[in-house]
Amino acid sequence: HLLRSMKWNLQNSYAELPAKLFTLQAPTPVKSPKLELFNESLADFLGISDGEQDHTDLAEIFSGNKILADSKPLAQAYAGHQFGNFTILGDGRAILLGEQITPNQEQFDVQLKGAGRTPYSRGGDGRATLKSMLREYLISEAMHHLGIASTRALAVVTTGENVQREWENEGAILTRIAKSHIRVGTYEFAFQQLSLSEQKELTAYTIKRHYPEIKDAENPALDLLKAVMEKQAALITNWMRVGFIHGVMNTDNMSIAGETIDYGPCAFMNVYHPKTVFSSIDSTGRYSYSNQPLIAHWNLSRLAIALLPQIHENQEEAVKLAQNTLNEFPGIYQSKWETMMCQKLGLEGVETSDKALIDDLLQLMEKHAADFTNTFLAIQSGDFPEESLYQSDAFQDWYLHWIRRATQSGKSMEEVQEIMGKHNPQYIPRNHKVEEALFQATENHDFSIFNEMHELLKTPYQLKDGFTAYQVPPKEGDDGYQTFC
Ligand code: AMP
Ligand code: MG
Ligand code: MG
Repeated sequence: HLLRSMKWNLQNSYAELPAKLFTLQAPTPVKSPKLELFNESLADFLGISDGEQDHTDLAEIFSGNKILADSKPLAQAYAGHQFGNFTILGDGRAILLGEQITPNQEQFDVQLKGAGRTPYSRGGDGRATLKSMLREYLISEAMHHLGIASTRALAVVTTGENVQREWENEGAILTRIAKSHIRVGTYEFAFQQLSLSEQKELTAYTIKRHYPEIKDAENPALDLLKAVMEKQAALITNWMRVGFIHGVMNTDNMSIAGETIDYGPCAFMNVYHPKTVFSSIDSTGRYSYSNQPLIAHWNLSRLAIALLPQIHENQEEAVKLAQNTLNEFPGIYQSKWETMMCQKLGLEGVETSDKALIDDLLQLMEKHAADFTNTFLAIQSGDFPEESLYQSDAFQDWYLHWIRRATQSGKSMEEVQEIMGKHNPQYIPRNHKVEEALFQATENHDFSIFNEMHELLKTPYQLKDGFTAYQVPPKEGDDGYQTFC
């Protein structure tokens, strides 16, 4: 499938925004591009696969060697709080080719990640390694199929050039598809660098693109803050549901559209522990599993600050309005989280006593170092392995409580299991399996495990015969597992 016909419908609306927000910049050509992965179903969805006569070489397009006729490539400027410290950033190795308009008129950014240096590269080489781009492909697609808002992966092309990290790596470029790449950090940049009318232009653009329902708002910036808060609360709730740890929730990695973005050091938790961290650079646990909702709130307060000039001309009034809005976040999140945890336990409608039922279970899981994913599957199936959690009296008490609560309004166990089955994945991208797949693909150019895993994770809620290996946690637990940016 190297040569195929393609029909693009590209638009370049971002290039119409105030000039300080981007730099027109073409990808830097690479030596010998080779297509490694192409996401056919995503291509169909985007409407680029059903073309006319002209056949195109996908490797040429997705390496940036060939620029599409309607593309106006650019690198975006943004800022961000990285581990709490403000920095001016920007796309240091990514180039936006344009926005594809799908057959049902949706708009998606098409971005090449690893496409060469830009004015925002700082000391970086503008490139990416095959291993990290395969990782993003695998995990971002898994997130999408878990039903969690995420950027997606359309293609991976190797460049034929080496990339120097701690050792030599094969270079690659990922084509990332996103609702947009507007970040909290984009607003922090705008606050610092744009005039008030330009800041308002960005807000109008964001609302038109992502939140058309508030287009007639009396206070667009304040309503935007509320809308982004809701989206982020829903997103983090979903991360917590499947044990996903993003790992680098800097404000430049928080999407205004509410998608999971930037799959650097992310990982899925095996053993349940609220303080779990995998990222090698997160020494203080700032981005640990249980800190994610708190950090989301902190990031949203950075967004609120950046929006202050737009919220009210009197800054004291603006602060009051923003503060009142921000104060709602913990309540919004808590209610979404409780609903989600109840769904994982097959409970409909949240009751006051459910909070204690959930907390009791989580405490037992922590005490017995239980596997996060498999505990819910065991409760769901009633099929308990010989592990200390299930043998403890405390768990057996809890289990009786749970059965009583779950079936209280005459619901059958089958009905309870049906609810649970929709919220508890059978398969997640377990770290050791991800590593195995990436090792085989990069060291031996053997994509069999990668492909098998990618395929399995397209239906993560469906139990399939012959895939037990993907459910078994590693013997050593999560001990010593580290991820890198
Ligand atoms: P991240 O921690 O992945 O969110 O990246 C933070 C910033 O570093 C972003 O502005 C990236 O564009 C930039 N960056 C990351 N890797 C590279 C690279 N190899 N070359 C240039 N810039 C990079
Ligand atoms: Mg980033
Ligand atoms: Mg990154």
